[in-house]
Amino acid sequence: MAGPTLLKESGPREVFCGLTSIVWLHRRMPDAFFLVVGSRTCAHLIQSAAGVMIFAEPRFGTAILSERDLAGLADAHDELDRVCKELLQRRPEIRTLFLVGSCPSEVIKLDLARAAERLNEELYGQVRVVNYSGSGIETTFTQGEDGALAALVPLLPASDERQLLLAGTLADAVEDRQMHLFKRMGIETIHSLPPRQSTDLPGVGAGTTVLLTQPFLTETARLLSDRGATVLTAPFPLGAEGSRRWMEAAADDFHLPNERVAAVLDPLMKRAESALARHRAVLEGKRIFLLPESQLELPLARFLQRECGMELVEVGTPYLNREQMAAELALLPDDVPVMEGQHVEQQLDRVRASQPDLVVCGMGLANPLEAEGIATKWSIELVFSPIHGIDQAGDLAELFSRPLHRRQLIRPGLHPSNPDTPVHA
Ligand code: SF4
Repeated sequence: MAGPTLLKESGPREVFCGLTSIVWLHRRMPDAFFLVVGSRTCAHLIQSAAGVMIFAEPRFGTAILSERDLAGLADAHDELDRVCKELLQRRPEIRTLFLVGSCPSEVIKLDLARAAERLNEELYGQVRVVNYSGSGIETTFTQGEDGALAALVPLLPASDERQLLLAGTLADAVEDRQMHLFKRMGIETIHSLPPRQSTDLPGVGAGTTVLLTQPFLTETARLLSDRGATVLTAPFPLGAEGSRRWMEAAADDFHLPNERVAAVLDPLMKRAESALARHRAVLEGKRIFLLPESQLELPLARFLQRECGMELVEVGTPYLNREQMAAELALLPDDVPVMEGQHVEQQLDRVRASQPDLVVCGMGLANPLEAEGIATKWSIELVFSPIHGIDQAGDLAELFSRPLHRRQLIRPGLHPSNPDTPVHA
């Protein structure tokens, strides 16, 4: 059967662990605290990933396992209880405490699920304690969000209300905009997971239709469907076309009249088309190679190929959920290699051999590739930027056209006709 060529690769990886997702999750739910139970390495990771945020009284921290814990000399559970209680005394505004597992806590088999249960009993009424794993052994980058949301699903109250549930963290402004558009199309009740307050959990049940805003929520989607919800399969809301199809999937499920949906979406599509034109002029015909990091790679590749005219050399993804990605896979061109997993050395060999115009990769590879003369786009920016929805299609394209544009601007400096003449861009 025609379609993209699905491949798998394993070996050395160059990706974040799931702990990194704390950086955006804690901003989403200001009344929650994320306590990593791990090593100094984990604390360093979060500090580096959060950058300047660590100075703004953050709502995350690390309970560092000491040698006494590792050697079994101290009862790690007693220690953890003590740390949690101290933390809650100092920060009484915390309503939900996430105990986040790491590689060290998992390797020594520290039972955080039991710790959460015990603390929940003791702190009942004051704070809710949940746990999930963000370890690098089990999770890659955005999968941490899947773990955190999956941990919340059992706490959602049962509800038979007919409603649309948007699952996955969006920037607040983007989420407001999508909800406004859905309401204009005729969907009355819309909730989101995660909510903006961790205690404000939406209900779930047979009347719930779930629209995933992000492609990395495999476990969350499974648990929501176990609770009776219908989880839609649709392209993800990246780019104008993807966002439109995503909204139409919900509109179909709610049996909204086509004319009403078109009346809301058509003018947005027109605006997106003109916003995209400028960037398409830069991107058209350029060859792009996406390395695996966030699972956003497939929808991005689909957008860049179909709406910006780029040629796909290889599309990497850390994990491929074929069922949830069916609509995305169907929109990718035939024979494009989609590589699940990574052997970073072999992948870099393929990058060098194919000499793409642009490589989407993590920060660990970006500058070294630039030094080899290959233009790059940091993939992490895609997780922190408001890129979802029809209105954002132009901004999303700009994230890719900008590095190519910058290269053009500095080209005279990189290849001076007379090396003695200074160049001013
Ligand atoms: S969870 Fe594992 S991969 Fe992540 S920082 Fe800690 S030790 Fe490293």
